[in-house]
Amino acid sequence: MFDLKAGFLGGSTAVLIRKAVEAYQPKMQKNVCCGEEMTVIHNTESFPYNYDDKECTIHVTGIPMWECKKCGEVEEDVSLMAAVEKSADQAFEALLKSGDQIPDEMSINFNDMLEVKEPEQVASG
Ligand SMILES: [Zn+2]
Repeated sequence: MFDLKAGFLGGSTAVLIRKAVEAYQPKMQKNVCCGEEMTVIHNTESFPYNYDDKECTIHVTGIPMWECKKCGEVEEDVSLMAAVEKSADQAFEALLKSGDQIPDEMSINFNDMLEVKEPEQVASG
C-alpha cells in the first residue's frame, strides 16, 4: 500500500506549510467582513486529479481556517492553501509512481503534512 509519509514528509513542502501555519497564527483577530471575532475551524479541501480517463480525488482534512462567528465568512490563507495543494500534488505523483492501484478517493490529514506526531491513543477494548 502507498506509504503517505514517504510521499511528502520531510521535504520542502512540509517546511513551506510550517511557515505558512506560523504566519497564520497572528491573524487570530477581528474579521474583515463585519468586525466580529473569528474562530478556528478545520475544513477539508478536495483536489481532483485526472489520469487515464479516470479521476482520483485527494481530500485534505483538518486544514485550519478562520470562520467569522457572526456571519460565517470563512477565510483561508492563500499561501497555506498553495502549500496544501502542492502536498496533494506530491501525494498523487507518489501514487502514480507506486504502481499500485489508484483509489478513486484518498484522504490525507493536514497534521500528517506537518509531521506532527499526535500521541497515540491507547486502544480501548
Ligand atoms: Zn463576519
